[in-house]
Amino acid sequence: MAVRQIREMGDDVLTKECRPVKEMTPHIAELIDDMFETMYDANGVGLAAPQVGVLKRIVVIDVGGEESEPLCLINPVITEKDGEQTGYEGCLSVPGKTGTVTRPMHVVCRALNRDMKEIEVEGTELLARAICHELDHLDGKLYVELVEGELLDTSSDDEE
Ligand code: ZN
Repeated sequence: MAVRQIREMGDDVLTKECRPVKEMTPHIAELIDDMFETMYDANGVGLAAPQVGVLKRIVVIDVGGEESEPLCLINPVITEKDGEQTGYEGCLSVPGKTGTVTRPMHVVCRALNRDMKEIEVEGTELLARAICHELDHLDGKLYVELVEGELLDTSSDDEE
């Protein structure tokens, strides 16, 4: 496993449509392992394949907490969404920034897991937000397009 370089806003790869995964290969299995390692290394809660420069429909998500588990979603599609939540959002590809985004409060997502078995994942609050955010990456969209008001700088303690 290896930490891969995270592509940042301005990189063309983040604006492209990703291709579906047809079959699991050792190459893709390695990519998924690396995506988890890269996400944890950067203290993120989600990462999409284009963020490491690969145009495939794969995302990994781990929002932490006792109720949740690490998720690998391949060719994911949101099949239901309802409610609304408005809150701050950030992205590993847009370091040092945050902005207010309104997302559904609850989503249901159908995808393939690492074993290419069909799964259905249901998420509320942070997990619903993470699923919507990561799936947008697969269509070349960044959250900054959805920000209400200004994109803000995140202040860190050592900058004070
Ligand atoms: Zn992102």
